[in-house]
Amino acid sequence: MYNLKSEKAGDFIAHAEILDTLEYATRVKDDMAVVDGILEKARETKGLSHREASVLLACDNQDKVREIFNLAFDIKQQFYGNRIVLFAPLYLSNYCINGCLYCPYHRTSDIARKKLTQDEIRAETKALQNMGHKRLAIEAGEDPVHNPIEYILESLDTIYGVKHKNGAIRRVNVNIAATTVENYRKLHDAGIGTYILFQETYDKAGYEQLHPTGPKHNYAYHTEAMDRAMQGGIDDVGLGVLFGLENYRYEFTGLLMHAEHLEAVFGVGPHTISVPRVKPAHGVDPGSFDGGISDELFAKLTACIRIAVPYTGMIISTREGKSVREQLLRLGITQISGASRTSVGGYGESPEEDTRQFEVSDTRTLDEVIQWLIDLDYVPSFCTACYRAGRTGDRFMELCKSKQILNCCHPNALMTLKEYLMDYAGPETARAGEKLIEKELDTIPKERIREVVRKNLVNIQKGQRDFRL
Ligand code: SF4
Ligand code: SF4
Repeated sequence: MYNLKSEKAGDFIAHAEILDTLEYATRVKDDMAVVDGILEKARETKGLSHREASVLLACDNQDKVREIFNLAFDIKQQFYGNRIVLFAPLYLSNYCINGCLYCPYHRTSDIARKKLTQDEIRAETKALQNMGHKRLAIEAGEDPVHNPIEYILESLDTIYGVKHKNGAIRRVNVNIAATTVENYRKLHDAGIGTYILFQETYDKAGYEQLHPTGPKHNYAYHTEAMDRAMQGGIDDVGLGVLFGLENYRYEFTGLLMHAEHLEAVFGVGPHTISVPRVKPAHGVDPGSFDGGISDELFAKLTACIRIAVPYTGMIISTREGKSVREQLLRLGITQISGASRTSVGGYGESPEEDTRQFEVSDTRTLDEVIQWLIDLDYVPSFCTACYRAGRTGDRFMELCKSKQILNCCHPNALMTLKEYLMDYAGPETARAGEKLIEKELDTIPKERIREVVRKNLVNIQKGQRDFRL
């Protein structure tokens, strides 16, 4: 039976509640009084329940869909302004004992296997720093022999320890398999940023078919991972579904129920939600799954998530190409990866492309991505301030919900962009970026903060680094 606060996956992601929600949404989606009532509530920017949001997703009245898109844009502006945070994935190892049918790293795949040594991790970190990255997401398959928790902890230490020219990696998010409370505590103590774990699909029957072997086959253990992470002290967790595997409406409802569960039990919802779609990869054909979605539908999904959880960051990776990313940035995305390599050792001079987890659609350099963002009037940000200032979990959420966080995000975006322009940008990006910073400075509402930022920008110009609010 559905129980939001239960510790059991089958209760807080209750199949019957999802089916009931979908049936309800189908029944009322053409009742404009209901839809308008939900949109009215959404305008209060306090979020929507999974039932309400599912009605918006099901609604196909074109005027209402336009309203949904406009509202998503407004909400994004109110909570996040025009800054976009940049990060890059770093693949440590593709050894894996699981049998995920959509991933080329599955146990019986004939893909080349590679695990980075600590020296290789140092080299990859320097290569990422040479581009200008400050925020990474490390990725590793599940393999207790090749990738035990000790390997992950040692790798974190190595990455944080690399100080190269003016650079340093200031926040490392971790994307590894579901594990124990004890291991989550170790990750927390090692100073990780967000712990990210995609559910892949919330549909238990589909999940078990897509994960026929390995520890990941256990739906409950995987679905309850975020509870264990929180019990281990990690209060920033990132959810995600791999859209394209199963019915998107089911996934959307499950995702929001998961967010509601975390908020109800721990007082803090997910820090981020990622929206990856299945992409071609070695031995993986996206067409072989049931849930493919068009770009148009993908945009609507993104907009509905933004409206339902206004205070949760949203991430899109280079799985998507430039035009899709451009559209989704307007509708709610707050973080994007840039110049990503999805192979193990991919940032080296002669990367081994045959270890790629998926094909990247956006292959631009980081500088090209930065310039593109600036041309679109976004402020590219390399900010990592919150985690380093201890603003995580409920402390972060409080600031975010009251929209106070914008007073930090925007100035920090300008200061970290300035660092990027000084240390890594090409001449054209540098010129465009300086102009943008001048223009954006005037939009900082509080004079005192504007003056602090001006002073720090001068100090950055003189060679100092790492200012933050
Ligand atoms: S998705 Fe993760 S757990 Fe599954 S095979 Fe790929 S690396 Fe392993
Ligand atoms: S101030 Fe905090 S929320 Fe804003 S961009 Fe920086 S780390 Fe993110």
